[in-house]
Amino acid sequence: MWDAEKYPLIIAGPCSAESEGQMLRTARQLVQIPEVKVFRAGIWKPRTRPGEFEGFGETALPWLEKVKKETGLKTTVEVAKPQHVELALKYGVDMLWLGARTVVSPFVVQEIAESLKGVSVPVMVKNPVIPDLKLWLGAIERIHAAGIQQILAIHRGFHYFEKSPYRNAPMWEIAFELKRVLPQIPIITDPSHIAGKRELLQEIAQKSFDLEMDGLMIETHENPSQALSDARQQLTPEALKQMLQQLVLRKRTGTPEFEYKLEALRTEIDKLDGELIQILAKRMELTDEIGEYKRDNNITILQMKRWAGIIRDRLSIGTHLGLDEDFLTELLKLIHKEAIFRQTEILNRNKEKEK
Ligand code: PEP
Ligand code: MN
Repeated sequence: MWDAEKYPLIIAGPCSAESEGQMLRTARQLVQIPEVKVFRAGIWKPRTRPGEFEGFGETALPWLEKVKKETGLKTTVEVAKPQHVELALKYGVDMLWLGARTVVSPFVVQEIAESLKGVSVPVMVKNPVIPDLKLWLGAIERIHAAGIQQILAIHRGFHYFEKSPYRNAPMWEIAFELKRVLPQIPIITDPSHIAGKRELLQEIAQKSFDLEMDGLMIETHENPSQALSDARQQLTPEALKQMLQQLVLRKRTGTPEFEYKLEALRTEIDKLDGELIQILAKRMELTDEIGEYKRDNNITILQMKRWAGIIRDRLSIGTHLGLDEDFLTELLKLIHKEAIFRQTEILNRNKEKEK
């Protein structure tokens, strides 16, 4: 279970361990920030292309051991193979995490899970690079099945094909869904890998708190522009301190009066949602009727002129009522897609009969 005392859990440290000096200097500054409880550093770096800096491997583990001994901070590293698990534990690393590239591969996750059997160490599971909740859940389940009691999830955003201000699109809805399915698993937000650049970190971290996420993992480097990996997104410890000071931590529940009023408003929403669903069902019934009518008269399903008219007309009504144009367009597209699907089914059913 999540210990409320530890909330929110703040993890900071460099993307990569680069030298003993870099690690110790960074950790000495980080331990001055009371909120920071865990020191992170990448030792085995999963690089997309060969020839990039791949981390110091085992050489860096004694550096991490020194950080822990000198500052008292807990330590964490990414593990991507059973051998990494073995070495990290040998050097007294306190927490392990599975990276976004590892979590896409059930075979690798399973191998790591096997190596964790009989071990008592908290394990954090990053979301997979691609937006697939099942892979994320699957990795958590494999680690859990290996007997690991303390599991945390890390939300680091998802690869996204369209243009976006982020390096990895947050797609918060996937994190919410994980929380809904596994409410006992705390979610740590990793604004560094979501943002890809320093300027966006504050905004993402604040949003993470506002959305009831349970902590932050933030890459922190003594000299970010010189970092051997992820130079654009790292913060100095001083900048991290300022960022944390500016974050507003809101309460999760309010006074009885607040909760009473909230409940009343939510009841209204529930009612409206019920009506919305009934209207949608009615609309689909009409869609089916039209589908049958088109079929009986041998008319095509998609009629572009009609569809263009619907969009224009509904957008004009909706935007006048204060609805966002993009939101409305997406909603209409979704309804239209379902309508087309239903009418296609009607047509196919008829073909089956004709056969
Ligand atoms: C990292 O934390 O440095 C890292 C490699 O992250 P991810 O697995 O999220 O890309
Ligand atoms: Mn990184």
